[in-house]
Amino acid sequence: EELDIQRIVERTVAEHAMTSPMHTITCQVQTGAHPYLILGDSARLSQVFANLLQNAIKYSPFGGSITVTLQQTPNASGDPFVEIRIQDQGIGIPLDAQARLFERFYRAPNIEGNKTRGVGLGLYVVAQFLSLHGGHIGVESRGIPGEGTCFILTLPLVERSDIIEA
Ligand code: ATP
Ligand code: MG
Repeated sequence: EELDIQRIVERTVAEHAMTSPMHTITCQVQTGAHPYLILGDSARLSQVFANLLQNAIKYSPFGGSITVTLQQTPNASGDPFVEIRIQDQGIGIPLDAQARLFERFYRAPNIEGNKTRGVGLGLYVVAQFLSLHGGHIGVESRGIPGEGTCFILTLPLVERSDIIEA
């Protein structure tokens, strides 16, 4: 069904901001391109943003900022996509681990000394759900602690319509 992805992102951000008051979690939306309508499953997409926000919280120190931005971006063929970036100020991810992040059960060596629990399925689920929606995920980090990590998601936009469900 047709979904307003901005509403899903903002709702997930608000939920995590409420339950993780030690982090500053904000959302910035590029205006002018509204609404960001995509074809998809709101429960699965909410799970995608929840997994990414949980990671950003888990792998960054108290007091760190987590910034989510939405903007429209064309792909190589000029089709409209929404680009969602989730930037944190956490422990970063070493370059040599980045290629394996979306494999099932993979946890990177950056978590040594960072007392976290996890099974390494969060990002696998994210990548699978995005792929099922015609989307994609990439990561940017120089592996420098405090410089953090940015996950960049893209999803295909549908033409504007009167039906908005979220
Ligand atoms: P879970 O299955 O509970 O989510 P997990 O968080 O370890 O466990 P993923 O979410 O798949 O698993 O993440 C895989 C690995 O990628 C993590 O173990 C961690 O090493 C690294 N990682 C993911 N997100 C971040 C982030 N925002 N900052 C730094 N490292 C990260
Ligand atoms: Mg995780």
